[in-house]
Amino acid sequence: MTSFKDLSIPSDALENLTSLGYQHPTPIQEKAIPQILEQKDLIAQAKTGSGKTLAFALPLILKLKDNEHFPQALIIVPTRELCEQIAGQCKELARYKPDVKVITLYGGTSLTQQVTSLEKGADIIVGTPGRLLDHFSRETIHLGEIKTLILDEADRMLDMGFADDILKIVSNLPKQRQSLLFSATYPENIDKLTKIILKNPIEIKIENQEKKVAIEEQVYRVDNKDKALIATLQHYQPSLALVFCNTKVKTTEVSEMLHEKGFDVATLNGDLEQYERQEMLLQFANGSLPILIATDLAARGLDIEAIDIVINYDTPMKAEDYTHRIGRTGRADKSGLAVTLCDEYGLKKLSEIKPNLQSKDINTLTPNKNFYLQGSVATLCIDGGKKKKIRAGDILGTLCKDIGIDNKHIGKINIFDKNSYVAIDKSVIKKAYNGLKSGKIKNKNVRIWWLD
Ligand code: AMP
Repeated sequence: MTSFKDLSIPSDALENLTSLGYQHPTPIQEKAIPQILEQKDLIAQAKTGSGKTLAFALPLILKLKDNEHFPQALIIVPTRELCEQIAGQCKELARYKPDVKVITLYGGTSLTQQVTSLEKGADIIVGTPGRLLDHFSRETIHLGEIKTLILDEADRMLDMGFADDILKIVSNLPKQRQSLLFSATYPENIDKLTKIILKNPIEIKIENQEKKVAIEEQVYRVDNKDKALIATLQHYQPSLALVFCNTKVKTTEVSEMLHEKGFDVATLNGDLEQYERQEMLLQFANGSLPILIATDLAARGLDIEAIDIVINYDTPMKAEDYTHRIGRTGRADKSGLAVTLCDEYGLKKLSEIKPNLQSKDINTLTPNKNFYLQGSVATLCIDGGKKKKIRAGDILGTLCKDIGIDNKHIGKINIFDKNSYVAIDKSVIKKAYNGLKSGKIKNKNVRIWWLD
């Protein structure tokens, strides 16, 4: 089996990979990393979950020059969530280097703050096409020193109508650069983009069978989708379930329906403010709200490893959407399950986009009517984060030592710039809340509230 060492990765970066738990390269990493290190342009067809982020981020970080004042790498992606995930992974991979700055630029957040960050200097920029163009038109961004351009989830960006924006951004980059394009599928219209952007690219394709994760696909014929959704949840009894609807309105309706029946549900759609999306995702990932109802766009780039079932409440309209949706389960070598609930119209639609799937009657399931997927933890929000220099250890210390909560009752702790979130077992949540309300974290008074 190939190791990262075989890919000519220097020892300090290797040590960091080991400390992050990455033992062996995935197939896309094995194929792409040597080519990227050799300065080749690349078209890589690999799905989310294949390890493609590390495949481009690691060589990028290895090649960064210290103390440059201008951005050296630009990563263009379709959504805010993907921006955050990629930036997070870049920071992890770069933590063995002294001072690598990674900035995210996406819409829905303050332009002024982004300008301030840009002025302080950045090595890697991860942005969505619209917001990047905004910065261009205001001349608040300087990309004249970019050495590497990466387009991630290029198929999705084309779907979202970003082709012209991308071409405009690229026309402002230096001609002498390395360009890498990653895409889960390879639609026909991608050729235009690749011809303009890439020079003699090497093509890498990771076939499905090379992917270690196994996703079981089931299709059920249903008359009443609400009842079928509940039956599916009560039959498979997952710990984390992601449910897809085709419209924003439907996500809200399905969430309300499940909530009324007693399930703990989060909703993710384009109507939410950025902080609401962040809180929804966080409560889903930490298990407070273990069912997430989302649209395709909102769930784009979602990387939560423990999702054990993806349910298509609505049949996706395109084969690419189906692939992207079911790719949210079975992440990082775990097996997963994808269930599609089809009425008569849905069956017809599904047979057009996925002709080989067999369907079963929903009544073949044996639901446990007493099973209601609910969070065993709830989330407390603290009005202090990185800016107040609060770290996870400070929160843990206050909860365990000062308030007397057992470590085993404390779940994920997420620290953001202004706020921090901590998942706490519902059995001790009041004690934690009262203790934090009257106590201090790092000698500072903080405001506390409950998310629900
Ligand atoms: P991606 O395809 O970039 O969305 O990556 C999917 C998941 O695979 C992420 O959670 C990564 O942390 C994980 N991952 C990436 N590379 C490796 C590796 N070499 N070994 C194990 N897990 C990995």
